[in-house]
Amino acid sequence: MAKKCIGCGIELQSENSSRNGYLPENVLNGENKELLCQRCFKIKNYGQYIPVRMTREDYRDEVRKSIESAKVAIPVFDIIDFEGSFDDEILDILREMDSIIVINKLDLIPDEKHPSEVANWVKERLAEEGVAPLDIAIVSTKNGYGINGIFKKIKHFYPEGVTALVLGVTNVGKSSIINKLVGAKRSTVSKFPGTTLKSIEVKIPYTNITLIDTPGLIPEGRFSDLVCQECNQKIIPANEISRKTYKIDKDRVILLGGMIKLVNKTEGDLKPIFSLYASKGVTFHETNLERAEEILGNTALLNPPCEKCIDEYNKNNIITETLTIETGEELVFKGLGWLSVKRGPLTVEVTYPEAGELIVRNAFI
Ligand code: GDP
Repeated sequence: MAKKCIGCGIELQSENSSRNGYLPENVLNGENKELLCQRCFKIKNYGQYIPVRMTREDYRDEVRKSIESAKVAIPVFDIIDFEGSFDDEILDILREMDSIIVINKLDLIPDEKHPSEVANWVKERLAEEGVAPLDIAIVSTKNGYGINGIFKKIKHFYPEGVTALVLGVTNVGKSSIINKLVGAKRSTVSKFPGTTLKSIEVKIPYTNITLIDTPGLIPEGRFSDLVCQECNQKIIPANEISRKTYKIDKDRVILLGGMIKLVNKTEGDLKPIFSLYASKGVTFHETNLERAEEILGNTALLNPPCEKCIDEYNKNNIITETLTIETGEELVFKGLGWLSVKRGPLTVEVTYPEAGELIVRNAFI
């Protein structure tokens, strides 16, 4: 049987160093059974990113192949980027199959938010998408909260054991969760998306539970996927998220990185109050209309995008849309952050790349 990389699951080969799965021949044929392909080795040891050469269709085909063997799906969602955690392909699977949903990165939301409130909010959002899971586990792989709860929930529904399909788009923390469940560093955990290339079966030691780790799909419409890898990593919050509250005059501008321009267009004397949330790696800059035009594109002041990826970013078709957001609603910039209206309505003109998606939802925080 062909040897596979324990990090990403790709079949190993020593013929072509520019193809996925490459490993020097002496290592491939050596004694070591726990082999990592060159790409995973570099990611793991040097934090060096080597882009994945796989298409979105390849990802989709690979996930579909594993569905037959599994009885339950375990999709992983990121609570801080909930809208950026789905993909139609994943939702379709969840409409067909039983699922136990794992919501990760609880550590990133404010303490006052109780996990049960988070679970209820998620349940409502999923119901809107036509998904009714068996159960929801709220966890943080960072501090270990709730990991045991995942075992308990699987055991409750499948006391005899089960094969579970672990699904998730890139960057939600799917690899981190598998590592926690299996208790060993099996999958390549990194801040880089698309690190698992093929489905990998892993048994959780001392249980009858087998996990099938599927590749991470890259969903449509995430602003974080429109910039280079370094900027992408800045947009994914690691420790805390930034929050800033505004009460600004009509025609004042807020620039979210150099990616989104927000102009307050609310009429009347009562100024709306709203908060912006995003990763600490994204600059928030308040200014006027004229100055905004001057500084847009200045990567020293506003980022992401950075100097390296701004030209590529500017090739996007930029559009402007005016939206009215009511008190208690949020405007989500998929994969980037959100704006929460505390006292509305807020009429806001948003200028953004058409490839990114805006969503209005009921407030989460
Ligand atoms: P995958 O692409 O879904 O397999 O995601 P990874 O497991 O590689 O994680 C993506 C990024 O999210 C990495 O930078 C992780 O350190 C980070 N991450 C994963 N789980 C958590 C968590 O519970 N809290 C926080 N703050 N970050 C997390």
